Amino acid sequence: MSHSGDDSLSDAAEECYNAEFRSYPDDAWYNVRVLFAGNSGDKMRVKYDNFSDDYDNIFIADCFKSAYEVYDFIGRFHKASAQLQDPDCSMVVKGMRVCSSDSFGNDDVRFYDAIIDEMLHKKHSYVNGQEECECTFLISWLHGPNVGNIIDKGVVNICLLQGSEILPKLVSFIEIALKKIDKALCKSVSATSNDLVALHKDNKGSPIVKWKPSSLECIRQVSLFVVICSSFFCLSM
Ligand SMILES: [Zn+2]
Repeated sequence: MSHSGDDSLSDAAEECYNAEFRSYPDDAWYNVRVLFAGNSGDKMRVKYDNFSDDYDNIFIADCFKSAYEVYDFIGRFHKASAQLQDPDCSMVVKGMRVCSSDSFGNDDVRFYDAIIDEMLHKKHSYVNGQEECECTFLISWLHGPNVGNIIDKGVVNICLLQGSEILPKLVSFIEIALKKIDKALCKSVSATSNDLVALHKDNKGSPIVKWKPSSLECIRQVSLFVVICSSFFCLSM
């Protein structure tokens, strides 16, 4: 589904790195910008901040095999999260979902989602007039190599999520992918029930399939999710 080095994609639509993408290889969040190809918008390039073009991911709407893959793909994007500032630490409360950094040796810092398990407040200090938070945040990792583990973090390690609305340009790409899957499914449904059984068996081969209602029902739910999210985004503009 993804590979690098498609020169047909244009960089003309300059955008800043205002989104985050949860990469497939390590499941960590990265700052990215998203570019779309030509007028059809059925190809997209994900460019990683501070990484060379060699690390770009190319996604083609045609290549999604099921609505489940599309659903998973949508969940891998969100707006860039914001670093928690020292004076604002009281905004973080028990049970809140945040994004937090985890270190894996020299200069290898990766970001994963976590739930605040507990807050240990301390009186803030002031250095050169600047308020400094010395509170401790106990977090439980939601994904990544330490999923389920609880660890203590400082304010510098905590980022606030900024909503899960789908990027406006991503909506049209998703719609193209769903239409192509819908067409393929209609052909399958008009064939035999054995074809549908085979389709479900094929889906089991995908590492990112986690949810298995009926395929048509899934497409309806993903489509509804896209409509709701895009409507919400328009309202919040
Ligand atoms: Zn604090």
